Formats: sequence, structure tokens, C-alpha cells
Amino acid sequence: MRIDLHTHSDRSDGTDSPSALVRAAVEAGLDVLGLTDHDTATGWDEAAEAADAAGITVVPGMEISCKHAGRGLHLLAYWPDPTHPALVAELDRILDGRDGRTPLIVEKLRAHGIDITTELVAEHGRDAAAIGRPHVADALVSLGVVGHRDEAFDRWLSPGRPAYVRRYAPTVESMIGIVASAGGVTVVAHPWGRHDNDDLRLDGIARLKAHGLTGIEVDHQDHDARQRAELRAIAAELDLVVTGSSDHHGTGKVDHDLGCNTTAPEEYERLRERAAVASRERTRPA
Ligand code: AMP
Ligand code: MN
Ligand code: MN
Ligand code: MN
Repeated sequence: MRIDLHTHSDRSDGTDSPSALVRAAVEAGLDVLGLTDHDTATGWDEAAEAADAAGITVVPGMEISCKHAGRGLHLLAYWPDPTHPALVAELDRILDGRDGRTPLIVEKLRAHGIDITTELVAEHGRDAAAIGRPHVADALVSLGVVGHRDEAFDRWLSPGRPAYVRRYAPTVESMIGIVASAGGVTVVAHPWGRHDNDDLRLDGIARLKAHGLTGIEVDHQDHDARQRAELRAIAAELDLVVTGSSDHHGTGKVDHDLGCNTTAPEEYERLRERAAVASRERTRPA
């Protein structure tokens, strides 16, 4: 069984439609595919339909933009009820924050003499519910300002660069609770991606577990071998589920091919069991 629990379609910053992503997953020899677009469930129906036709299992998920200790932190949510009012309200707030940020980024870029418009960014975001900096990056590539997405982040869009703009994000603790109340389970995404996060070592992750966190994404391209070993030890100590995944973005991210990291079948089973409990607890009559 080959299981990849973290991927993006063009409903956020991936480049494949949900159905094309499902077909690519079959091609890549996957048995289980987690669809985890940023802050939206809008790809789920199309992916489920394609999965039925292709004979692959799609796990409905999302990667929610949160904050922790003053920094951004991504939280993977699996099997939440996408109509749960508190979840819908929070996702709407995040998506509004994304939509409000784009014109501010554009304004900063224009102040640097770049002829970019909000409309051009929207064209690159075409089917996305979650418009993000990668779509701004794609617009900059189309204008010839940069050669690829990475360069756009390095020169313009990352924190500390000239066109960086903050946006709204809920605390990870509150979002863990909301997803649980929606009958889903949560896994902290690439917790040490890009840097060793001092606020998220054993004690910090134990505190998230106390709020209901179910797992840690250990095997991810942004973690080196030492980080993976340390995170695996923390997960064992805290009895958290260990996941591995590609964080595939189609052609939007190099070195993130489908199935480049996978989740062990027994860990996937544990995740499913905990989700079944979450779902029962949520539907239990008061
Ligand atoms: P946003 O959703 O607008 O906050 O943009 C964050 C997204 O941009 C992440 O989900 C990544 O897919 C992508 N990203 C972040 N940093 C980089 C980078 N340095 N190079 C390319 N893509 C990046
Ligand atoms: Mn992304
Ligand atoms: Mn992420
Ligand atoms: Mn991701």
C-alpha cells in the first residue's frame, strides 16, 4: 500500500485539477491520496468522483493556515465535516484574508515599478478558492520579472522581502479544536520545514496534543534525515501518528513528486481509527 497524505490541486496552489491529480496519483502507483488544498474543501467532490472511476482512495483533507508563537504554521485536517459552521466561518475568514492581501501585495510590487495587476494574479489563480503568493509568483514569471516561483519568493514575497504582506490566521490550538468539533483529526504539517522550530519541540508538541492533535508529518522534503529522526522520536514519546507525504503541487514545486514520501499503512490505520472516534464523539447526542 502506497499512501501519500498531503497534495494540492488547482483549487489552491497546485497546478492539476482535482481529477487530473487523482489520475496522476494512479499513474504514480498510489493506493491512497490525501487531497489537502490550502484552506478549502472545494476540490473534494471532483476528486471523489475521479477516485471512484479510477479505483483509488481519496482522503478528504485540507491544509489550514494557522499561527503559532507569532509565526505561520500549517495544520493538516482530515475528514472534517466541511459544512460544520465553526469550520466554515474560520475558513471564510482565512480566505477573506487571502483575497484582501492580494491587492496590497500588488500595490507594493507596482511601487517597485512592476506592471502587475490584481486581475493578472486572478487569471493565474483561475480555479483556486485559495488565492496565494504562488499565484502572484506565477504572474511575476509571466511578466518576465523572475524565472520561477522560488525566485519570486526569494526576491519579493517571503517575510522580510519588499512585497511581503501578513494575512489573518487563527491560532493552531483553536483550529485543532474546531476540526475536532467537525469530526476530523489534525496533523501538524512539516513542523520544522525551513528551520528547526524551537517553539515546537517535545514540550510544544505535547501542548498541541493536549489540545487534541493526532499526528506529526515527519517525512517531508523540507526535513533532513536528522530532523526526521528527532521528530519520529517525539511522535513515539507522545504516542502521535507519524505521516509522510509529498506535498505535491503539480509543476508548481520541484522535488515534490507524488509518493516521494509516504505514510506507513499501520500509521494510516491509526489515523483512521482516531478519525472514527472523533466522528462518533462529534455526532454523539448531547
Ligand atoms: P500563501 O499561501 O500565500 O501564504 O503562500 C504559501 C505557499 O507558497 C506555500 O504553501 C508554498 O506552496 C509556497 N511557498 C512558500 N515558500 C516558497 C518558496 N520559498 N518558494 C516557492 N514556493 C513557496
Ligand atoms: Mn502551497
Ligand atoms: Mn505547507
Ligand atoms: Mn502543502
